[in-house]
Amino acid sequence: MTIFEKIAAREIPAKIIYEDGEVIAFHDVNPQAPVHVLVVPKRAISRLAEATESDQALLGKLLLTTAKLARDLGIEKSGYRIVINSGRNAGETVPHLHVHLLGKRALSWPPG
Ligand code: 5GP
Repeated sequence: MTIFEKIAAREIPAKIIYEDGEVIAFHDVNPQAPVHVLVVPKRAISRLAEATESDQALLGKLLLTTAKLARDLGIEKSGYRIVINSGRNAGETVPHLHVHLLGKRALSWPPG
């Protein structure tokens, strides 16, 4: 089981802010912005590079859920960034696809 599957199974504690049958969202344990939430499909796809046609609806759901959470967290107007790290050069550390939702501060570009 991945760390995020363990969080979904309540085997590891997390500050969960949203859950439905397909997706779970919780605050990152090491936040990089005042809002730093991870939006995770319950079905463990390792990373975006491993996603296939059969994941199309789930990937859409991940983004729409992220946008809804940004609204709920009050960062829609000020703006926010979503990040998906896929693979070593991107700094991926948890091999279970997840969307980072970052906001409530100005974020520089380009990223490091
Ligand atoms: P990645 O580097 O793979 O894109 O992102 C993994 C993220 O998961 C990191 O931001 C890290 O802080 C977060 N993370 C790792 N372990 C845990 C955990 O046990 N609980 C929570 N809430 N976040 C975690």
